[in-house]
Amino acid sequence: MITERPTLIIEGGRIVDGLGAPPQTGDVVIAGERIVGVGQAATTECHAVDRIDATGMTVMPGLIDAHCHISFDEPSSNDELFFHRREGLAAIIAARNLQKVYRAGVTGILDPDSLYETSIDLRDAVEAGIVHGPRMAVGGNALLTSVGGTAGRLLPDEGRRGYGKVVRGPEEIVAEVRRQIKNGVDWIKVHVTGLTPRQQVTGELQVWNFDELRLVSDTAHELDTPVVGHCRGATSIRDTARAGFDLILHATYMDEEALEAVVEARSPIVPTFTFQANLADHGGAVNSSPGLRDIFKREIEDSAAMLKRAFAEGVPLLCGTESGFSLTPYGDWHYRELEIFVRDLDFTPLEAIRAGTSACARALRLDGETGAVEAGRLADLVIVDGDPSEDVTVLADQSRIREVMVGGRRMPLGPIEPERGDPPGWRVSTHSDRILDYDFVQGRSGPDRT
Ligand SMILES: [Zn+2]
Repeated sequence: MITERPTLIIEGGRIVDGLGAPPQTGDVVIAGERIVGVGQAATTECHAVDRIDATGMTVMPGLIDAHCHISFDEPSSNDELFFHRREGLAAIIAARNLQKVYRAGVTGILDPDSLYETSIDLRDAVEAGIVHGPRMAVGGNALLTSVGGTAGRLLPDEGRRGYGKVVRGPEEIVAEVRRQIKNGVDWIKVHVTGLTPRQQVTGELQVWNFDELRLVSDTAHELDTPVVGHCRGATSIRDTARAGFDLILHATYMDEEALEAVVEARSPIVPTFTFQANLADHGGAVNSSPGLRDIFKREIEDSAAMLKRAFAEGVPLLCGTESGFSLTPYGDWHYRELEIFVRDLDFTPLEAIRAGTSACARALRLDGETGAVEAGRLADLVIVDGDPSEDVTVLADQSRIREVMVGGRRMPLGPIEPERGDPPGWRVSTHSDRILDYDFVQGRSGPDRT
């Protein structure tokens, strides 16, 4: 049962609207789940019951993370993700992890693919008021051809494992898309590129052909469901855009032809640089391999210019972080894509905020409905002690996040109880972090053989 809530007025805050307008000081009036007034005169006509004093603070739309894997629980490897997760526990732990996500000022996430499709149930539980969480739009299993995806041979030749489902040919593609839509997904996710053991080229290979991409896209669209593709590499981006995909994740290594295709289709892109940037900037501290750090650093450097051109030509760029891995734990890095947009794509802070809020509303299938401080929109808001329109990194400090609201409901903040541990068998366990060669024991260590 939804109880009637009093009108709420957030008074005297610095309003950053999420649409790119310069900040203005004023009030925000909320009735039920929506914003009903914004600005200087907003309060004059209503009899407020609840008031929040936001003087000196910023009122802005909550962040929307357009690429967050809520069911993964921070694995440090694909092995852990595919072989150490259990369906029931994955769902229970995801419900807990959602508490971290909204405490970071995130009021919406797109979870494009989930372990055992548990995010469908989690979304429904949030919407029914069973657990606190941000708004969620979810995919089911990612569709993979029998070539696999980025997890290579860990994926089976057929059937499903973890977050992935192998589809062999047109019949299975159509059947799987329809099955997922029947079960309630918001998006169909496709791993358009992947890795093979003996490839001569660096980077990922396109593992779907154009006709297959078109078939996924047409089948989903016939059932009013959008399609999102994971694409690294020029031809995959070109074909995905031409096949009518509604969102492209990564879109790195575009060439002129791929750029032309995304500009023509106005295909929204979620570059998702946070994972790479965390690895490049902080990977040393967690013993990531220097080779890997280098590859990811270059991926940002090599792709920034093309993404800037795409944006200049009218292609929407959305913020997503790939939160859910050991390098991108929940609650800590959702703000960081905004920082990278400023640092590497030359966005102003206001442009970055727009990319992480109103532009991302389409990832929730709520374009025009959320992501902005504007009368008529859903009251998905945060109040921040600081001015993100000057420096987006103030959003990194959770002690500055004073209020989080989803649909006008004030979310509980503060510590998450109880303190958690890991269930048995949940993490990859290792006997050692190097090979115990004799020379090493004798102090005559050569290069580490691991
Ligand atoms: Zn991802």
